[in-house]
Amino acid sequence: MKFVFADSLDFVDPAYDFIADRNGAGRTIHRDDQFPHEFLDTSPYDGILVSRGIVGDALIPGKYTEAQLMRFRREGARRFLRYSREQFPDSMMMGDCGAFTYRNMPEPPYRAQDTVEFYGDGDFSHGCSPDHLIFDFDDQDAERSEKEIPEDIRIRFEITQQNAAEFLREAKSLGRRFVPMGVIQGWSAPSMAQAALNLAKMGYVYLAIGGTVPLRIEQIRRALAAIREVLPKQVRLHLLGFGKIEHLADLERYGVTSFDTTSPLVRAFKDSRKNYWARSKAGELSYYTAIRIPQATENNRLKVKALQGRLDQEEARQLEATALNGVRRLACREIDVEDALDAVMAYWEKLNWNDEASPSKRVQALDRQRRIYAQTLQDRPWEGCDCRVCREGGVEALIFRNSNRNKRRGMHNLHVFYKHLQDFRADAV
Ligand SMILES: [Zn+2]
Repeated sequence: MKFVFADSLDFVDPAYDFIADRNGAGRTIHRDDQFPHEFLDTSPYDGILVSRGIVGDALIPGKYTEAQLMRFRREGARRFLRYSREQFPDSMMMGDCGAFTYRNMPEPPYRAQDTVEFYGDGDFSHGCSPDHLIFDFDDQDAERSEKEIPEDIRIRFEITQQNAAEFLREAKSLGRRFVPMGVIQGWSAPSMAQAALNLAKMGYVYLAIGGTVPLRIEQIRRALAAIREVLPKQVRLHLLGFGKIEHLADLERYGVTSFDTTSPLVRAFKDSRKNYWARSKAGELSYYTAIRIPQATENNRLKVKALQGRLDQEEARQLEATALNGVRRLACREIDVEDALDAVMAYWEKLNWNDEASPSKRVQALDRQRRIYAQTLQDRPWEGCDCRVCREGGVEALIFRNSNRNKRRGMHNLHVFYKHLQDFRADAV
């Protein structure tokens, strides 16, 4: 089972200076930065997914700047991402249209032909047909037939199927190095199975299941079971946007060949609790909480408090410096956990001071947070990890603060997750 990382220009500056909190001297964005497969000792995934929605174009702007977009189209995905076939043999360079970005439009802004051009210019190895999201997912035993669904859903279903038929024909021009993937969209498990069967009959040998991002694991299981039941065994399955990565066994059970997600990286800065990953002795994923020490001069919450006259900015800077110092001195074993926590919590309290909460509520919140951070500082998980993030930065990746630390923590999570997946694959054989 292959793990494909959905990229969104996630790089770090390898020369970043943690103490001065600034980029390396003369750093040029992208050129001097490193993607996870460059920064870490080995690539933490089996492929990269690039969405047209993220790259963007004149019609729908994405995340790339105009210069990056032009460079991407000129050089192709592999050169742009510095993820060459030679260096990463057997890796997937996969594309999709990013249906979520145009979900509210009556139909996709991309056609089969220009999508094939995009994949061809980009030198992709795999690419998805242009699909249109269907948001509904019927409960078991309440599944609607095609006659019972609203017209909007029926049209989205038909567009996705029609585009897939055209895309398969157009993709022939890319030759055998390119594997077209037909996208499944449906409003229920049976309708997804029907879509899958239609695509297999068209001649697809690799299908991608879309629209599962908001689904619960039980719903995904039902969809997979229904699809697998009708599909010939040799047809491979990819799961698009699979964030529920604690459930690898479910994918394995239903013969999923590959899945993509950003989860290990993104949870490093979007999850307030489980943002630094580790593995228990039993091989399960476990989690720590990074210590939040935002930059006093740049933090919006602190700025508002300063404006309201409730906080002295100089005091905030002092508390910030003391908190940083506390964590670093703890890492060097110069002070103990309680002293480090005092420094961290003094700043935390200022940052999260809530005038509306009662004094007892405030004490409770403070205690709760202190216990969470105590776990991180006591266990010193950065010492138990051999990835480059932890080796070079030590405790810095466990400080929740600015992109260079947060994305490094995300790369560490990718490293941990990939090891977890490799062990899982070894056990599954
Ligand atoms: Zn690490």
